Amino acid sequence: MPVGAKAMIVREALQGLFDALVTEGYRTLGPTLREGAIVYDDVRHVSELPAGWTDSQEAGRYQLRRREDAAWFGFNVGPHSWKRFLHPPLELLWSARRSGDSFEITVPAAEAKLALIGVRACELHAIAIQDRVFCAGRYRDDSYQARRTDTFIVAVNCGQAGGTCFCVSMGSGPKAAAGFDLSLTELLGADRATFLVEVGSEAGARMLERIASRPPTEAELAGAQAALERTAARMGRKLDTTHLRELLREQAGHPRWDEAGERCLSCGNCTMVCPTCFCTSVEDHSSLDGAAAGRVRLWDSCFTLDFSYVHGGSVRHSTGARYRHWLAHKLSYWIDQFGTSGCVGCGRCITWCPVGIDITEEAAALRTPGRAKRKEVTHEEP
Ligand code: SF4
Ligand code: SF4
Repeated sequence: MPVGAKAMIVREALQGLFDALVTEGYRTLGPTLREGAIVYDDVRHVSELPAGWTDSQEAGRYQLRRREDAAWFGFNVGPHSWKRFLHPPLELLWSARRSGDSFEITVPAAEAKLALIGVRACELHAIAIQDRVFCAGRYRDDSYQARRTDTFIVAVNCGQAGGTCFCVSMGSGPKAAAGFDLSLTELLGADRATFLVEVGSEAGARMLERIASRPPTEAELAGAQAALERTAARMGRKLDTTHLRELLREQAGHPRWDEAGERCLSCGNCTMVCPTCFCTSVEDHSSLDGAAAGRVRLWDSCFTLDFSYVHGGSVRHSTGARYRHWLAHKLSYWIDQFGTSGCVGCGRCITWCPVGIDITEEAAALRTPGRAKRKEVTHEEP
């Protein structure tokens, strides 16, 4: 089948795709229920998908609910993003062991190929953004690049919008447009549930050939399109991106930053759940007897004081300055650095902020003139 071709499969046939991917040596990852949330983890059987579950999301609130139907992908994004597999929270870079008068250094072996199943449109954009950060600049990340080279992606078009989603504003959803091998649209018919499958790559076409499919009817294509249009019309949030890049530069002294800073706990949740945040720190460890040592890389957050520590202290002392740095980087300086916004409108930072700080509300507030408390902010980098 050529790239762009569409086919129908019965829902149960998805197990055949899991099996084919495992046979080809992929580690299959997908959504599953765990600890009161829908997270991403190893999934080998369709029975492990969160069938019949959905989520309700608002600022600072996430709740699982039962659906009235048995949809397998009838929910929105949860606390995990695919970055936890492509850019892991903790990664051993090397370890060393003393051997006589010398020592041996070991670099971790390559991991299994990853198959990501259930990737939403906003998440495809987030992966593309991290690809640009890690693979397209002067400084390439070899381990990230190795993982991405062999990644197989099964996207899922969103059949509903979450309460904190705003992918339409960011031009990143709800339809998976590029960056996938196969994409699925779940269609819940009265008699039988099916998936409309779109081929996104030659690898995807080869996988689809391994399961039974048939051409879609006009009614099925129209049903899938209508579901996407409904989702787009029901976004939980909106973000006006008009001149946002310039606005954030101009409003560095707006009092809203300090107001947000008074609420913000500097917990770093927003950076941990964000699928595009990529900052890390590096730690070296050694055993007490001096026989072994190692270096690990860990996710870091610009909300900590340590993050901007240079000789003598931190550059960004106040919480408001740290919040301003994070939001302005996402929506303005990221464009200067990487040519795209750093936000894909997934809404995770809104849902998982313990005090419900909402990036769409904060950006909107900057459009309202406020009396600047600071005349200038040159003592603090943005
Ligand atoms: S800034 Fe918030 S809404 Fe934007 S991509 Fe990150 S977590 Fe999602
Ligand atoms: S904005 Fe919210 S999630 Fe982010 S550091 Fe502040 S309190 Fe934590």
